[in-house]
Amino acid sequence: MTRTNRQWLLASRPDGEVKVENFAWREQAVPEPRDGEFLLRTIYLSLDPTNRAWMNAADTYLPAIPLGEVMRGIGIGIVEESRHPGFSAGDLVQGLPGWQTYALSDGTGYSKLPPAPVPLEAHFALLGHIGLTAHYGLLEIGEPKQGETLVVSAAAGAVGSLVGQIGKLKGCRVVGIAGGEKKCAWIRDDLRFDAAIDYRNENVFESLRKHCPQGIDIYFDNVGGPILDAVLPLINNHARIPLCGMISQYNSTRPSPGPSNLAMLIIRRARMQGFIILDHLANAAPAVRDLVTWYAEGKLRYRTEMVEGIENAPEALLKLFSGQNTGKLLVKVSGEP
Ligand code: NDP
Repeated sequence: MTRTNRQWLLASRPDGEVKVENFAWREQAVPEPRDGEFLLRTIYLSLDPTNRAWMNAADTYLPAIPLGEVMRGIGIGIVEESRHPGFSAGDLVQGLPGWQTYALSDGTGYSKLPPAPVPLEAHFALLGHIGLTAHYGLLEIGEPKQGETLVVSAAAGAVGSLVGQIGKLKGCRVVGIAGGEKKCAWIRDDLRFDAAIDYRNENVFESLRKHCPQGIDIYFDNVGGPILDAVLPLINNHARIPLCGMISQYNSTRPSPGPSNLAMLIIRRARMQGFIILDHLANAAPAVRDLVTWYAEGKLRYRTEMVEGIENAPEALLKLFSGQNTGKLLVKVSGEP
């Protein structure tokens, strides 16, 4: 019997907010690998804010997805058949299978999962592009020191929740900014952040002033926009601002006005630096070791928001923009081996 590959295609480009109608469903026969290729069955699909940017007509750090193509997506899968010298049937791999139940690949952009005593889903919620982003962005760009004050936005999300915990491990005072009291309670009471600010219901600038009496040494920015502007007047001399993401801007249809408090970078001799974690994956082994060790010691926790079934991927993607996810948003596409 022929097996079916179930896929979501990019049908149209979003005008502002992404909509379910931007995607089209297709079913076709599962392809056969040719020489130099393998066939992968997708197990977990990672839904990421960057998916929204990839849907635009303009290239980002990756080329724009052509209309009518399978939606690009990061995933974990198992190699079912291989005619590739570097991959064997049964290998668990991560890469860009896209929003489909099966993917053919010549191996480009794929790597075997690092051996780590963690659940499979943790390769995205704790390790992979999420954990490495938190680790690299905070430790290499943020350069936290004992006693410094770290502020992180989207603090109850996948990256932000790890950043705050790693900041605590490094001896920082950690203040998280998140939407809603439930998320704030989670990061404050369960993850042991020193304070949480509900940006939907509080004046962020006033609350930051209250919770950061010594000023802000590091701002790990996941959101950009008005929150970045509220942070800037409170930064200390030689503050570091890892620019990780700007989710508040991803649905904008026109360029938004720049932060009006940018001159604070000069006054405070501060540094703001963007990064893309893809550039650093090749040297990730020490970071993976750190993350696994902290997890094993009970010092670093993650949370997943699991959506069942690839048919629900478009609807689920919207959760990132309405803040309905806590921790790492994943789609379970098929069963674990
Ligand atoms: P999250 O799990 O943090 O989910 C996104 C969260 O952003 C939502 O849950 C929501 O939480 C918050 N949010 C949405 N809209 C707004 C808004 N307008 N203002 C403030 N907060 C908002 O996603 P990730 O952890 O995967 O990603 C976090 C950031 O990191 C993103 O900007 C992403 O693009 C970036 N990133 C960058 C990488 C790099 O290499 N530079 C790699 C991976 C991620 P709430 O309820 O609190 O609003």
